[in-house]
Amino acid sequence: MLLGANFFHFGDGTWVYDSATERKREQMKLKDLLPEFYSEVEQLIAKQGLTVLIEQLPYLEIAARCPCGDDFCSSFNVKPWRELNVVEQNIVLGKLEKTIELGAESGYVIVDIDNCGRIIGFEVLYRDDVDAALEKAGFKKIISE
Ligand SMILES: [Zn+2]
Repeated sequence: MLLGANFFHFGDGTWVYDSATERKREQMKLKDLLPEFYSEVEQLIAKQGLTVLIEQLPYLEIAARCPCGDDFCSSFNVKPWRELNVVEQNIVLGKLEKTIELGAESGYVIVDIDNCGRIIGFEVLYRDDVDAALEKAGFKKIISE
């Protein structure tokens, strides 16, 4: 399996241990933890006509914060809406394939999509509100040494 129980794949190829996977899955839904960001993303994606991505949103769970430690970074990975099937796993799918800049009114919100068309993360920059919401949800900023 590409996405193990406790490890999630970051777009840049690093693997990060996620202590939050100890929580109950229902508590990790993006829509529940970051409701304001969720509806913003939903609207931005709709505006771009990416309806196939909208269908995935309710299933997304926050997996881990980006470990870069930059002040302005509130990026995070999500557990995709579905697991890879056996065939997909065998041909090494599940890798970052494209990023779509959503044109947020404040800061930058970029959605990361793998080569199975699954949302695997959000690059969120210069967004103190998302940073605060992630902190509140228990996803503390990782300060690199
Ligand atoms: Zn970062």
